[in-house]
Amino acid sequence: MTVAVIGGGITGLALAYQLRARGTAAVVLESTSRVGGNVQTHARQGYLLETGPNSFLDREATTRELADALGVSARIRPADAAAKKRYVFTRGALRALPTSPPAFLKSDILPLASRLRVVGELFSGRNPTGSDESLAQLGRRHLGREATAVLLDAMQTGTYAGDPEQLSAEATFPQLVKFEREHRSLILGAIRAQRAARQAKAPGAVEPGPRLSGQMSTFDGGLGVLVDALAKALGDAVRTDAKVEGLERAADGWKVRFTHGGQPQELSASHVVLAVPAHVAAALVRPLDAQLADVADRIPYAPIAVVHLGFAPGSVPKPDGFGFLVPAVERTAMLGTIHVSTTFPFRVEGGRVLLTCLMGGARRPEVVDRDEDALAALAREELKTMTGLTAAPELTQVYRWPRGIPQYTVGHLERVAAMEERLKRWPGLHLTGNAYRGVGVNDCIREASRLAQALGGPAAPATRSA
Ligand SMILES: Cc1cc2nc3c(=O)[nH]c(=O)nc-3n(C[C@H](O)[C@H](O)[C@H](O)COP(=O)(O)OP(=O)(O)OC[C@H]3O[C@@H](n4cnc5c(N)ncnc54)[C@H](O)[C@@H]3O)c2cc1C
Repeated sequence: MTVAVIGGGITGLALAYQLRARGTAAVVLESTSRVGGNVQTHARQGYLLETGPNSFLDREATTRELADALGVSARIRPADAAAKKRYVFTRGALRALPTSPPAFLKSDILPLASRLRVVGELFSGRNPTGSDESLAQLGRRHLGREATAVLLDAMQTGTYAGDPEQLSAEATFPQLVKFEREHRSLILGAIRAQRAARQAKAPGAVEPGPRLSGQMSTFDGGLGVLVDALAKALGDAVRTDAKVEGLERAADGWKVRFTHGGQPQELSASHVVLAVPAHVAAALVRPLDAQLADVADRIPYAPIAVVHLGFAPGSVPKPDGFGFLVPAVERTAMLGTIHVSTTFPFRVEGGRVLLTCLMGGARRPEVVDRDEDALAALAREELKTMTGLTAAPELTQVYRWPRGIPQYTVGHLERVAAMEERLKRWPGLHLTGNAYRGVGVNDCIREASRLAQALGGPAAPATRSA
């Protein structure tokens, strides 16, 4: 059996690696000259810059298992204790997110009447229709208008850079929908889930599986460490500059047409996995199945720009906490800023300060089209308004993602189920990646592991390297 994996982002690489670890032949075809997709780390002038994702939550066994198998888990670094606090820019100021119910009641994160409305959540009702609804609808029913516009919006911005009026509650925050279904109130659901988790963890019990810190983490050389380790392990099973142009059914599987160095080439495979963005998958399957293509094409993306601002040692004070998020009601192009040098001090040399501003998203998609100087100027202008920072950076680097984060809009899970149903007509064809069942790095690796298991059987026992 040979598996052709189209797309050398984290999903395609993790899948091919895990298939090969199971003894299944797998080849990755990647259209650009380097693998990793939006996960890449660049070292510039004393700063480690991420092109896309900044970190992952170290709570997924499959991510740890992959890092273990590649021999890089000893290089995982959790966020510094100084990054504990998180802020939201609201009502003209950065306000710390409270971390406990009593702290929430005393905090200034929302006006008093809105904080009391959140307490009223205990009496809120279930979704009267029982069908999927927007995140904003769920939020307003439970938390009220202001908490939804400020807190829930900031929370989704941190992951989806989306519009809560459009995002599906069930596809983006399934835990909240589960709490509502099972306990009616989100607060009661959260309290009972915490209690159940405490009871399940008997004193002195040793947790099975890898050692998950549950903390926001990266690698000592940035997330590129994982991509580099995958690329090294895969060796010449990865072909870069190999743009897939078409798929055809063959008697014994599939024929993949691609260009390599401008030359047309073909590859035969028993299975083809499209680990590419949904619109690319749609274009590739359209000649075979227009209905399948339409489902994939209906997954929109929010554009996003990453603006890194690096400050010379001593030129600005060390910022406090992980960073801050900005809800859409503030009408900024900035979605939030990560205090990278506070969170991961090893990503800068010699006391430099690195801020990473995320701009655009579903709320202001047009700003991502601006040129890099204009985007950096806008980030600095908004930072000045929000934080008072006026110092000139010694480094400015902008990365743009016109199709940044897939948007799981209302009805997303139904569309993914319809896609699965349609795929049954095409044995050996699979669609995966961040467009369908989770947008984070952990989700991509979990999906890759699931598919590797489905195609290649159970994994050989892993040798733990750290
Ligand atoms: C700005 C930004 C910040 C983010 N922050 C975080 C974060 O902090 N934490 C987190 O967990 N997640 C974050 N994410 C999400 C996460 O980075 C992505 O979900 C994940 O990297 C997607 O991986 P993928 O392999 O599914 O897709 P991609 O990375 O998009 O990879 C797809 C690959 O397919 C290739 N390709 C496309 N067309 C073809 C073709 N015709 N033939 C061959 N190859 C093709 C592309 O070149 C690309 O390499 C962020 C994303 C962005 C954009």
